[in-house]
Amino acid sequence: MNKIIVAIDGFSSCGKSTMAKELAHEVGYIYVDSGAMYRAVSLFCIQNGWITDSGINRDELEKNIASIQIEFKPNAEGNSETYLNGQNVEKEIRSLEVANGASRVSTFGFVRSELVRQQQLMGEKKGIVMDGRDIGTVVFPAAELKIFLTASPEIRAQRRLDEMKAKGEIANYEEVLANVKERDERDQNRAESPLRKADDAVVIDNSYLTREEQNNLLRTLFNERTFL
Ligand code: C5P
Repeated sequence: MNKIIVAIDGFSSCGKSTMAKELAHEVGYIYVDSGAMYRAVSLFCIQNGWITDSGINRDELEKNIASIQIEFKPNAEGNSETYLNGQNVEKEIRSLEVANGASRVSTFGFVRSELVRQQQLMGEKKGIVMDGRDIGTVVFPAAELKIFLTASPEIRAQRRLDEMKAKGEIANYEEVLANVKERDERDQNRAESPLRKADDAVVIDNSYLTREEQNNLLRTLFNERTFL
């Protein structure tokens, strides 16, 4: 069976990571969460005091971008976790504060070009499922299978809230919905690689699909591309 690249793009909290992870697991591919890389850059800025309410210290970030090392390593259950300069930051990068910072640092061209370079290296041998915002358009424009995943902001906010509650985090629906909409707005309207559907991407609106229906659909598309 020929190995391919699967690019999954879409809005935040659409379930891209779950979908990508499950496919990668099923077919024995590497899974890469590109959003975790932008989140790690955001966390690095927060740790250094470069993100404040009044803005981001772009100059310091640009000077130090080469000292940010991001890796993925499997945990005991085999799930990939994010490391920032040798430290496991998987839990920390999932906070709303880090997510907000990520959507801000991701507007800088120098951040994007560095992370895109690293992502392209990870996909050199194919056999990879990567999710993000620009995977089918910029990172792997020649990917054999491109998915554009979408769901309404209200449904995405509710899913995110349920996830946070399950982890014992305190959050309210209005705040999460506002965050989802704010990030959509920033992702779609930034000058550098805005979120958009690649012309050859398959659109999946999973607002009313079960996880199983969604995975079956993805698997059918994957089989079509690999059994050629
Ligand atoms: O997917 P996730 O919510 O973890 O991504 C965090 C942020 O990183 C997004 O809001 C988006 O601004 C940015 N991002 C990006 N390009 C990617 C992946 C994520 O700009 N390929």
